Amino acid sequence: MSTFALISDLHSNLEAMEAVLNRISQLGVQEIVCLGDVVGYGADPLKVTQMVMQRCKWTLQGNHDWGLFHELDDFNPLAREALFFTRAQLKPAFLRPARKAAWEFLRNLPDRMQDHGFAFFHGSPRDPVMEYVLKSDGFLEPDKMQQLFALLDRPCFVGHTHWPGVHGPDYRFTQATDEQREFKLQGPCIVNVGSVGQPRDGDPRASFAVVNGDRVEIHRVPYDFRRTQAKILAAGLHPALAERLARGK
Ligand code: ZN
Repeated sequence: MSTFALISDLHSNLEAMEAVLNRISQLGVQEIVCLGDVVGYGADPLKVTQMVMQRCKWTLQGNHDWGLFHELDDFNPLAREALFFTRAQLKPAFLRPARKAAWEFLRNLPDRMQDHGFAFFHGSPRDPVMEYVLKSDGFLEPDKMQQLFALLDRPCFVGHTHWPGVHGPDYRFTQATDEQREFKLQGPCIVNVGSVGQPRDGDPRASFAVVNGDRVEIHRVPYDFRRTQAKILAAGLHPALAERLARGK
């Protein structure tokens, strides 16, 4: 029976990443895979990328990782500003050799993966880097959900929305909460593992998932977001990027 942890949407948040890795090792889980958005928004892109390179079996490309190497016209102003900062931190330079490996790693990430009999994307099965599968799509966008589920013959895992939970075969979204955190993996479904570095479901704790055979459990870990906030402000990033970490929104 395979057991592995899934992390996503780290967003250069070192303190959240450390707390999650500690919890995963306490749980005795060896294998970790990463669904993308290693960087963007936060103040520690290099350290977080190096941890991912060291610790994860494989890593997918998120839209912010993609944004490092492309035009940023479609990004909101806060995301764009943070990506300019991230480029400045990571772009290889003569006196900063450590950056080159991280830069090349982020440039060459795959956009989808199959492993352990499951499928993995950052965003969606149809548009793996950019498309959001929103929790409201189940009742607002049944046609979209039908098209996405037509592409699935097994459970798949995504990140991107920063909202942990599961879209079942009836397209309905069940949010992961402390009361409802374990789900059975059977047939096509879309499991969102939530975000390590910038949760948006109103719970500021870092989110990640552990698969054990045919079950997935969403875990939440508190971390010292005040340190993360102080670094974001010291880096000159927008204060809103610090404030939202306390609200988890
Ligand atoms: Zn993200």
